[in-house]
Amino acid sequence: MKKKIALITGINGQDGSYLANYLIKKNYIVYGLSRRTSNYKFQRLKYLKIFNKIKIIYGDITEFEFFSNIIKKIKPDLLFNLAAQSFVDYSFDNKFTTYEVNTKAVYNILETIKNSSKKTKFYQASTSEMFGNSKKKFQDETTEFNPISPYAISKVSAHDLVRIYRNSFGLHATSGILFNHESPLRSPEFVTKKIISALIRIKYKNDKPVELGNLNSYRDWGYVEDYVEAMYKIINYPKAEDFVIGTGNTTSIMDFFKLVCKEIGFDPVFKNGRDYRFCYDKKSKKKIMRINKKFFREKELHYLKARTNKANKILKWKPKTNLKQLIKIMVTYEIEKIKNPHDENFY
Ligand code: NDP
Ligand code: GDP
Repeated sequence: MKKKIALITGINGQDGSYLANYLIKKNYIVYGLSRRTSNYKFQRLKYLKIFNKIKIIYGDITEFEFFSNIIKKIKPDLLFNLAAQSFVDYSFDNKFTTYEVNTKAVYNILETIKNSSKKTKFYQASTSEMFGNSKKKFQDETTEFNPISPYAISKVSAHDLVRIYRNSFGLHATSGILFNHESPLRSPEFVTKKIISALIRIKYKNDKPVELGNLNSYRDWGYVEDYVEAMYKIINYPKAEDFVIGTGNTTSIMDFFKLVCKEIGFDPVFKNGRDYRFCYDKKSKKKIMRINKKFFREKELHYLKARTNKANKILKWKPKTNLKQLIKIMVTYEIEKIKNPHDENFY
């Protein structure tokens, strides 16, 4: 039987690399778009041992004519649009790049599929950030969007475009509204990876305390391997629809920090210093965390918690990994990495 073709934008990112791994196991031919940087490392793809199995296309998603021609040429069965300026904090200072990559590029893809590759099924990486500070105890497909960052605004606009192209032009265009999902291959600026890698460096290399911002917001964190399975189920569900994907549990950054400490063997004590709050380990007396104002956001999203009844029922999707297991996976990876400093395979 002829192999099916998948095209992934953002192949070099956390989700792109895990999704590629998942699709290769399902026997897909995988093409991946990656923009030029001064340093082509493809560390995530190499770590997952799939770099040689992917057909890399070098280019930028905002180079609209170029990318339209790629779609027209490949005519993929599945197109997963994961490329994005994905860091909320960065979007406050880089609004227009964020909009260009996260919204205008989606417009271009949808228009190209409509005109030249109508059989292509499309998946858009939407996000729980679109909900903003809703007053509800949980967020699902019926919750109103109330974006409060340039990142969230760009994603709501893209989400609306997908819905319009689906309803008005009959495209098989879907969006997964995914809550935060993490892994050892998460970019280092996100709070989970930042906390875990820093605490491991403190434990094994006596490094300086990790500096954090607001510890009082809540996130619904899941494991990326469960979430790429959800992406696949969403795009292949016969009717194009939007689905909320999360664990249904929410945890504060403070509690996440404490859980990581427990896993690593620190006993954290929180104190108020003269101009900052800090935390030390009771046994070793090492200072392990301090608050730095620079990591507070212009606008904070305080609380996220998914309700995934629709995905549970229709897609038969449920997360397999809980937060403690996720932390263990990430901690184990950081320990391996620090013990093998010359192994370039680690991300
Ligand atoms: P990453 O930031 O790890 O990956 C994003 C990828 O997009 C990177 O590989 C990046 O390339 C690529 N990219 C950025 N700009 C361009 C451009 N102009 N042209 C081509 N490629 C570009 O994000 P994740 O993998 O975590 O997330 C994947 C998608 O899911 C994103 O759209 C994100 O917004 C969304 N999302 C993620 C969530 C999460 O918790 N992870 C939650 C909800 C939604 P490079 O490697 O060169 O930087
Ligand atoms: P986000 O939900 O996509 O913004 O994921 P992040 O991991 O970047 O942030 C999650 C939450 O952690 C937000 O409420 C941040 O304000 C909070 N946070 C607290 N300290 C930090 C920090 O030092 N870095 C980051 N990235 N987030 C922090």
